[in-house]
Amino acid sequence: MSKIKLLTEDLINKIAAGEVVERPASVVKELIENSLDAQATKIVVEIGNSGKDLIKISDNGLGMEEEDARNSILRHATSKISSVEDLFSVSSLGFRGEALASIAAVSQLSIITKTKDQLEGFNLVMEGGLMISEGPIAAQQGTTIEVRNLFYNTPARKKFLKTDAVELRHIIEIVMNYALLNKQVSFLLKHDHHILLNSPTVEDMRANISSIYGLGLAKELLEVSTTAPSLKISGYIAKPFSARNDKNQQALFVNNRWVKNNDLTAAVYEGFHSVLFVNKHPVFVLLLELDPQKIDVNVHPQKTEIKIDQIEEVCAAVTRAVKETLQDNNLVPIIDLAAEFEFSSRKKPVYSFEKSKQTILQNRHEENELFPEEEAVSEKQTSNKPIINEDDLRKELSKTNKFPAMKLLGQVHKTYFLAETEGGVFFIDQHAAHERVLYEQFMAEYMAHDIAIQTLLRGETMELTAVEKVLFSANQEAILAMGFLVENFEGNTYIIKTLPSIFNRLQPKVLFHEILDSLKGGKLEEIKEVIVTRMACRAAVMAGDIITLPQFSEILTSLSECALPYTCPHGRPSMFLTTAEELEKKFKRKG
Ligand code: ADP
Ligand code: MG
Repeated sequence: MSKIKLLTEDLINKIAAGEVVERPASVVKELIENSLDAQATKIVVEIGNSGKDLIKISDNGLGMEEEDARNSILRHATSKISSVEDLFSVSSLGFRGEALASIAAVSQLSIITKTKDQLEGFNLVMEGGLMISEGPIAAQQGTTIEVRNLFYNTPARKKFLKTDAVELRHIIEIVMNYALLNKQVSFLLKHDHHILLNSPTVEDMRANISSIYGLGLAKELLEVSTTAPSLKISGYIAKPFSARNDKNQQALFVNNRWVKNNDLTAAVYEGFHSVLFVNKHPVFVLLLELDPQKIDVNVHPQKTEIKIDQIEEVCAAVTRAVKETLQDNNLVPIIDLAAEFEFSSRKKPVYSFEKSKQTILQNRHEENELFPEEEAVSEKQTSNKPIINEDDLRKELSKTNKFPAMKLLGQVHKTYFLAETEGGVFFIDQHAAHERVLYEQFMAEYMAHDIAIQTLLRGETMELTAVEKVLFSANQEAILAMGFLVENFEGNTYIIKTLPSIFNRLQPKVLFHEILDSLKGGKLEEIKEVIVTRMACRAAVMAGDIITLPQFSEILTSLSECALPYTCPHGRPSMFLTTAEELEKKFKRKG
């Protein structure tokens, strides 16, 4: 007797369901995609008990005729592609024709649907993949699909579901990302009758992002827009200071499909390189448009993972786009003093602000001047111009990527410098500022293979441990490329003959040990950034160093020439601004 049997349709569907329907969120995803493919402009998602009891999605899309509705729950039934050629140019979100069949196999499913031309709707009820009933029903144009008791007949799968909170989080992630991408579609997400997300239709993407990620973010978003051959990148990134402790506000879309792709995400982080503080995660919503021939969305039944041809080039373009956007914008953070010192509990006296009574800072001195007269804040301007409010100041600053003109006033706590600028006061961290300058100067020389070298007349000798000797000989060439000529003198004694001039403020030995120590973390090529950052940190003026105004002026001038002057290379701010308006509030000159 033959042993091979064909699987029953029912079993095939249950197996397929295992791939397509991993959890409630996968159902939400498939159903939203179907609604979008049906050109819906309004999608309501209702969830009961984190999707375990109920997932209900209603749309106002095209709807289905009776026969199509009956076919829709058959495996490999799709209205979206019909030939192999189509597979390579899919523009719809669905195309495999297995979602509804799979979902139906593992739940109690009901479809109510009506097209524009039909007078009444059609209702179809299934249980575990079997038809229970069908018939006419009163309905609006569009489709409502209700999925109850997911996995009720596959207990093993049900057992693998995570906690309610986790499952719900996955659902929110799905709805949020589709809402982000489709500003022309309104999304409403309800869980056990509470509204979790309400994203109305809006005109532009910035408004859409802030309705979903939060209003506060709108001001901090920078537009990204580049076109490279066969690649378009658009969207928004938030300024580094809006970076978060979690990765919840990151979204990537490729050809209008929400994707998860580690390479692309890493490319975005790379673009934020040296402006993000450790363990901070950037906020971004980026849309990539690629030649559809170059991507394969058919690698996984859930279609969130995609394969991209020439991924390295695409990644490089993404990194460049992010980097350029950061460089083209003014990233100085504006600190809200009033928010930090809450006065609201006390009764506020009313002060009227009279400009003529402002005291003008008089200690100007030629040497203190960082910028030529016409660029600096002149006394006249300060006294005559109305105080700019914070929003205007933000607008002013965001119009230009130019380093703000400022007048240095002096050092505070041997750590910070104070500088006046139009509409506010800057606090600058002397160490962070200098660190950024040294970092960028060295990187520029290194990238140009043109490192200025200082030769030590007598050389400096030092002893290396066995571990250090191994590290040194494995990386000798790369170390030389960084400007260090080091030779073995005898035994464990080595002699440093040259070092990069930028770091000549430091003891050569100290620098060299820094390098060897960093090298324990991996190959020099991979960690050269770490090394440069550490050297810059070591060589920069420290908090606690007494720095004169002319000395700091020089640092500030160099800082103004940096590509990313607003943070140190570790991503800590180098400066922040307090607006004159804030000061007025603080001194109760203004309510
Ligand atoms: P796919 O989306 O891959 O084609 P599905 O199983 O998700 O496969 O859906 C099968 C078919 O059912 C679709 O091709 C579409 O014609 C129809 N359909 C599903 N959902 C909707 C909807 N919300 N509105 C209109 N038609 C739908
Ligand atoms: Mg589908």
